[in-house]
Amino acid sequence: MNQITPQPGIMDIALYEGGASHVAGKSNVLKLSSNENPLGPSDAAREAFSRAVHDLHRYPSTDHGALRAAIGAVWKLNPEQIICGVGSDEIIHFLCQAYAGPRDEVIHTEHGFAMYRISALAAGATPVEVPERERVTDVDAILEACSGRTRLVFLANPNNPTGTMIGAGELRRLAEGLPRKAILVLDGAYAEYVEGYDAGAALIAERDNVVMTRTFSKIYGLGGLRVGWGHGPKAIIDVLNRVRGPFNLSSAALAAAQAAVQDTAYMAKCRDENARQREWLAGALAEMGVPSDHSTANFILARFADAAEAEACDAHLRNEGILVRRVAGYNLPNCLRITVGDESACRRVAHAVGQFKGLR
Ligand SMILES: *Cc1c(COP(=O)(O)O)cnc(C)c1O
Repeated sequence: MNQITPQPGIMDIALYEGGASHVAGKSNVLKLSSNENPLGPSDAAREAFSRAVHDLHRYPSTDHGALRAAIGAVWKLNPEQIICGVGSDEIIHFLCQAYAGPRDEVIHTEHGFAMYRISALAAGATPVEVPERERVTDVDAILEACSGRTRLVFLANPNNPTGTMIGAGELRRLAEGLPRKAILVLDGAYAEYVEGYDAGAALIAERDNVVMTRTFSKIYGLGGLRVGWGHGPKAIIDVLNRVRGPFNLSSAALAAAQAAVQDTAYMAKCRDENARQREWLAGALAEMGVPSDHSTANFILARFADAAEAEACDAHLRNEGILVRRVAGYNLPNCLRITVGDESACRRVAHAVGQFKGLR
């Protein structure tokens, strides 16, 4: 018998499936399956990345001081309470590795992001799925699911793939109601899309049990570079830094991310343009009998009559060279998640859904 076996939990991990990017036999494919920024990164970020070519023989910074200072200045946060990672996925991973192990529980919501479960299992902990209320986070259900074993509660706000979010009062009620050993992790991957939302910064400032994660993969258009960050109480950031590899981020990634976060005008432009196209797309689909909850992010969760109709629409879109995300794996078999593209992309996908519905 083979005695070489991995740690408990690892074989329960179902491999993460990214959004599809190719359709056999199609060129001019429109990818609306991974919530990428259709406008790409700011020119300043592209230029910083190009300049990094001159120093490729040098090891990168181990403490990410320049990037943390830039993030701190833009979002008015103490750089000492910021940690940078290989995407926010790595911050999620550090949190599980450092705070959850065998017999511990990690809570995530019913339609929550797949990485929470994967990172919990990788740490040997037990993921606990909590129901949502009509695709909206249910704070009471989360508090009821908490036990003496709860170590982490992951909540994306805005949530992916639902696009819905809960307000500051509900977030505070959740943080205040958690067991003493548990950390609330607010995943702010889409926070920049919500004008005026602090992603939980005020809550973090007054408590010791709340952490936020953020990313350069969405509004900053740098998904290919893999940069994310976390912000929280100094004590927790100190713990996470102990499990972080010293050279986890490349010099080119650090430079591009720093330029990106400093270009606040470009970010605001992307946010406003996304909101405009999102409202148009949601309205166009609703008129065709395809409703969605009000989205606060850069995608729409389109609801169909049933799983069969969602599947058939997905097949039609594919045939038209348009890739969207099936979300049956997120307990949403009758839905398709459609990233908000630029104006022509939104028109193209709305037209194709109209064809499918027999309206065009
Ligand atoms: C896209 C996304 C992320 C970002 O992951 P990165 O590793 O930073 O690219 C994190 N959380 C949620 C909910 C997301 O949708």
